[in-house]
Amino acid sequence: MNEPCPCGRASQPAASKRAEPLPFSACCGPYLTQNVPAPDAESLMRSRYSAFVLERADYLLATWHVSTRPATLDFAPGAKWLGLEVRSHTLQDADHAEVEFVARCREAGRATRLHERSRFVRESGRWFYVDGDQF
Ligand SMILES: [Zn+2]
Repeated sequence: MNEPCPCGRASQPAASKRAEPLPFSACCGPYLTQNVPAPDAESLMRSRYSAFVLERADYLLATWHVSTRPATLDFAPGAKWLGLEVRSHTLQDADHAEVEFVARCREAGRATRLHERSRFVRESGRWFYVDGDQF
């Protein structure tokens, strides 16, 4: 829980301090392990990246909107996630948001990147991933 969070989010430091990676326990940990709802679409997106790193299919399915949720989820064997960069987080209205991100991955010895603008919706106080456009 004290390891840096897989999603790479940094602390918001006071002016005199440098940003440091947040520990898992202060970042995605509560969403993945304590059923705490992510407060915004970016936090949900980050927690879903962490869930891919940790191979938490249950969390990924639970945060997938029922209209687009697959029945099951498989992880590519041997895939290694290398990092996440959130490019933008745009709120359309109180319950709809888009997050653009780049996730880097190594699969079968080859580096790949996933660049996607994802759509999120909030229902009953919880954000869900709906779908996305890949670049
Ligand atoms: Zn995180």
